Amino acid sequence: MADRGDIFDSEEDDSVRTTSTAGTTLALAALLGATVACVGYHAKPGTAEPAAATEETMTETVPTEQATAADNPLLQQWSGPYNGVPAFDRMDLADLEPAFEVAMAENLAELDAIADNPEPPTFENTIVAMERAGDTLGRVFPYFAIWSSNLSSPEFRQIQGRIAPKLAAFGSKIIQNTKLFERVAAVHDGDEVAGLRPDEQRLVQLAYDEFARNGATLEGAAKERYAAINQRLAELYTQFANNVLADEEGYVLYLDESQLGGLPESFVQAAAAAAEERGHAGEYAVTNTRSSMDPFLTYSDERDLRETVWRTYYSRGDNGDEHDNNAIITEILKLRDERVELLGYDNYAQWRLEDRMAKTPERALELMEAVWPAALARVDEEVADMQAVADSEGAEIEIAPWDYRYYSEKVRKAKYDLDSDEVKQYLQLDKLRQAMFFVAGELFGFEFKPVPEGSVPVYHPDVTAWEVTDRASGELVGVWYFDPFARTGKRSGAWASTYRGHESFDGEVTVVVSNNANFIKGAPGEPVLISWDDAETMFHEFGHALHSLSSNVAYPTLNGGVRDYTEFQSQLLERWLLTAPVIDHYLVHTKTGEPIPAELVAKIKNAKTFNEGFATTEYLASALIDMKLHTTDPDGLDPDAFERRTLARLHMPDEIPMRHRTPQFGHIFSGEGYSAGYYGYLWADVLTADAAEAFADAPGGFYDKALAKRLVEHLFAPRNAVDPAEAYRAFRGRDAKIDALMRDRGFPVPGDAAPGGRSSD
Ligand SMILES: [Zn+2]
Repeated sequence: MADRGDIFDSEEDDSVRTTSTAGTTLALAALLGATVACVGYHAKPGTAEPAAATEETMTETVPTEQATAADNPLLQQWSGPYNGVPAFDRMDLADLEPAFEVAMAENLAELDAIADNPEPPTFENTIVAMERAGDTLGRVFPYFAIWSSNLSSPEFRQIQGRIAPKLAAFGSKIIQNTKLFERVAAVHDGDEVAGLRPDEQRLVQLAYDEFARNGATLEGAAKERYAAINQRLAELYTQFANNVLADEEGYVLYLDESQLGGLPESFVQAAAAAAEERGHAGEYAVTNTRSSMDPFLTYSDERDLRETVWRTYYSRGDNGDEHDNNAIITEILKLRDERVELLGYDNYAQWRLEDRMAKTPERALELMEAVWPAALARVDEEVADMQAVADSEGAEIEIAPWDYRYYSEKVRKAKYDLDSDEVKQYLQLDKLRQAMFFVAGELFGFEFKPVPEGSVPVYHPDVTAWEVTDRASGELVGVWYFDPFARTGKRSGAWASTYRGHESFDGEVTVVVSNNANFIKGAPGEPVLISWDDAETMFHEFGHALHSLSSNVAYPTLNGGVRDYTEFQSQLLERWLLTAPVIDHYLVHTKTGEPIPAELVAKIKNAKTFNEGFATTEYLASALIDMKLHTTDPDGLDPDAFERRTLARLHMPDEIPMRHRTPQFGHIFSGEGYSAGYYGYLWADVLTADAAEAFADAPGGFYDKALAKRLVEHLFAPRNAVDPAEAYRAFRGRDAKIDALMRDRGFPVPGDAAPGGRSSD
């Protein structure tokens, strides 16, 4: 998040429940690398989600391993304290594939039994029975998540490659179970629903939608066409991703020593290594990726080279050669449109947003268009600041897109320079963890205590386990694992994973959850010091953990998330990092113990709004194009012309490109994770800013007891048991407004004459 860079924010929650049965869906999610992974408040995603796996028919053969299933530790009920914990000390990779085979077969058999029930369908014998299914598979997934994110290896990745298509086929098989869907539909349409509790009514609706929105209502030719479209889309997603990758790998700029002016030593070293890797020892390689392009454009004094690097990067997938993505985009858009038309929707975005908090493309567009003018106005100011620097240096240039990062860095140094080493002296990993526990105690009433030594197995000696209890009642809430340090085989970034979610319909189930990061271990006995961005990220991930721990839902499916909503809770928790008790007791100097000085805090806050015109504009341009592409009739659509025309109408500044131009927009064309959904980051930011302002204005501030109670009750505990828009209204007494977000970004708050509504719940 430091660089607002390319960390893929793969929300656990949304993908976790891709089908409506309890255990099954965890599967699909984790498979796509998607335990809750996160980035901080402002980070925008960069890499595309993996292409949808192709559908294959699952083999009907009962795995031979079933004979030994009884001995497979990954399939066992969890034992030990805290209502059982995963057997992380008994993980053997050889057991993983057989465990999946057995667990998937068991889950399908359970669902078949529900479908074949001779009794008339009822909520209990159909919907509740489905919630009960998939328990074994749900237990296999935490192990998979650990191997995938915390302990990866080439052997694991091979197994993952084999499991992926099987899981995709498994998911399809459930959706295509006509008898099962007929029973769900019968409950959904029957009289019994009216007498159910609201959360149970919502559960019925979610179960029904999961089938209906994925083609289960179709018959005959339409059903066949639907399947054919999905098959073709899966191919196109892969091709799209491969083309972008080919252009990232295919264009490398080699520099000689005379062309390194301005570049930091760390960049030069990496560029030398990258050149050597490619057989160009003695030269310096600028690769065609964001992580290479961004620092090069920020620091290189060579304007011509900056232009070359800029043009190459923003032409990925758009070079008119065999890797050009334009024709693929048109075909994808047409197929998506045709597919949702079969289901009765006007356009793809309408289908996509129906179960999001925004609900309609119009409301998402309204929000984006309300913020857009302020971002453009800020860009004018930023360009003027940069032009002044260029003029004072006698550069005799007009700021061009390849100058933006370069001159904005000069402005930053002059106006907002923060000494990150100075800040770090106040950010000790252990103190920050204590600060998080303090906040959890004040807001949630949770108490964190280390588990008795040796009582809970871990998969690595660096991992610690903590018992979480309710301070008032003393009752067990769950177990929290913390895996803070980088090591080989651990993915980069920071994330949270839920290994066991809360449920109560068959007895109280307590939560098992983890936070994971990649800090560098200090010398023995020395405190580990981390950066400001890392400290925010720690609070962010802890917010996800608290969201899991505070769940009070009855049924597992109701733990699922809503894509434009699930980052809100975690982003909100970041705001407690700069509250007075945290500053005074935990953000203390590693040597002197003095709290971080107010002027340094002011500098940190000030630096946050720097370059916000650029950041908001490049992001919003991509989000707007995404939504417009998915609300426009795709017949005869030329993506290049569409992008040019739409940006011109929006008065996109010449100095800034879209963060992801259409031919390289992997989020929306390498799969469907973010298609018509890129706006979601802004949506969650609006909620975050608006909710934080409620605390800032409360009598007790960020520790206001009454407001904290409402926070937990309405925004955390219900997960997806309540419509997010209703939940937010219950917390705030009204819908969210964009005003607080505008203040956060240093933008003027639009007056009554501003275009578009300001309601954004
Ligand atoms: Zn997150």
